Amino acid sequence: MTGASQPHVLAADAAGIAEAAQILRNGGIVAVPTETVYGLAARADSDQAVAEIFRAKGRPDFNPLIVHVADIDGARRLARFDASAELVAQAFWPGALTLVLPRLGGAALSSAVTAGLTTVALRSPSHPVMRAVLAAAGVPLAAPSANRSGALSPTSAVHVAASLGGNIDCIIDGGACEAGIESTIIAQRASGSWELLRPGPITEDQIARHVGALGDATSAGKGKIEAPGQLSGHYSPGKPLRLNAQSAQPDEFHIGFRDITGSENLSSTGDLALAAAQLYAVLHRAAASDKLRIAVAPIPDHGLGTAINERLRRAAAA
Ligand code: AMP
Ligand code: MG
Repeated sequence: MTGASQPHVLAADAAGIAEAAQILRNGGIVAVPTETVYGLAARADSDQAVAEIFRAKGRPDFNPLIVHVADIDGARRLARFDASAELVAQAFWPGALTLVLPRLGGAALSSAVTAGLTTVALRSPSHPVMRAVLAAAGVPLAAPSANRSGALSPTSAVHVAASLGGNIDCIIDGGACEAGIESTIIAQRASGSWELLRPGPITEDQIARHVGALGDATSAGKGKIEAPGQLSGHYSPGKPLRLNAQSAQPDEFHIGFRDITGSENLSSTGDLALAAAQLYAVLHRAAASDKLRIAVAPIPDHGLGTAINERLRRAAAA
């Protein structure tokens, strides 16, 4: 821990990756770019290393973390994979899909990672820098988003430094994140069926093509909240946020979409992938602007729009 000083920014090259892997092997924490958002990584098999993540983020310790692995082989050492889990992992890994599966009894995982649950959340990321760090560290890495708990997720090294500043020693700067929103999370039930815990870059329809329709744990009244990350009041920009705003008041930063121009437009052509990739960067700028409030144009609620709207609803409730 470096106290109030700014974190050391490592280049996303062989030397930077080797240094990050060394810090991680020694039980330190490093912010690393992934294809979703920047993650704050620590070795997942060490109670002390994982405790550093919770401390740096100010995250409640009953909120479990996603464990990142290099490949399916690495995941099979930590959780039980049935035929259906194999199928989704083969279809979407490496990529922005997290699987919540029954944790293996002998798995080398800190119990803080799973917050004492009998399940573990696993993902094999596709970002070349995160993959290289995983390979060089040689251990699974717990990595929640690299921001103070409850705040906006970071999609650049500058966002990480602004949120976690003196709480972390190192950031690998890998540029802007491609998907720009957190991974899709699905959980396998005892019956073998799947439930959507968090919409994300990989859509429900894409997953359903492989394993059939998903149950929905995210809509009100259905399913049960398993972890606080599923509650409202997450992703806070620190200002009131209004949804479905066709126009804005003078004291509002207006986030536009398609033909609603706004102060900044998520995508003037209505491209939802571009809108997702830009979402947090635009929200960070809206938060830093001199406007007191934020208003967001309507975003269509299909495909990637479902994940964008879920983040916006929770930002509005924060
Ligand atoms: P973050 O690390 O900020 O991207 O958030 C990770 C999300 O994964 C949180 O919403 C957690 O609640 C969820 N999560 C992690 N592990 C589990 C698990 N074993 N069961 C259910 N949800 C989980
Ligand atoms: Mg987060």
